[in-house]
Amino acid sequence: MTKAFALTLALGFSLATFARSEDAMRQEDAHEHGAGHAEIVVQDGQLLAEFHLTGADVLGFGRPTTPEQEEQADAAKTLLMQPGSVLILPEAANCNVATASVDLESEDDSNHSEFHVVIEAPCGAPDALTHLDFSLFKTLQALHDLDVDYVIGDDASEAKLSPEQTRLKLR
Ligand SMILES: [Zn+2]
Repeated sequence: MTKAFALTLALGFSLATFARSEDAMRQEDAHEHGAGHAEIVVQDGQLLAEFHLTGADVLGFGRPTTPEQEEQADAAKTLLMQPGSVLILPEAANCNVATASVDLESEDDSNHSEFHVVIEAPCGAPDALTHLDFSLFKTLQALHDLDVDYVIGDDASEAKLSPEQTRLKLR
């Protein structure tokens, strides 16, 4: 067995293990209410942000089951479609911020759902992206923790944001 092949096997094994343990976690404990997470990438003059938020934190209930709750879910989608409800970028960066999509995923066999928000922002002066302000905490009073994984160019970092700390410093 060559060294390269052995490494491939080892990596494949660990990735599969990771995927399985994450699945297992999801089944046992769907998600933590009050906590969301986000992934942000700044690359080639463009910012891309993805948010995962529990239905409970957005709607105040696990998942819509009645027509009234469906209406509330639609109203929440409309609110989250406004990028300013989620994220505010420095004006100097001259970004064209747009929400690409807001999806609500719910599982029929559980009383949970999850909102998935994707924001795209090509920026005229990306070097001026010194920080991001998460207006999301004002929009969603139930949100207490946001774990953020972010990548700028080749550097990956993570941060924990909260209603007391809504600004992420990027550089
Ligand atoms: Zn839930």
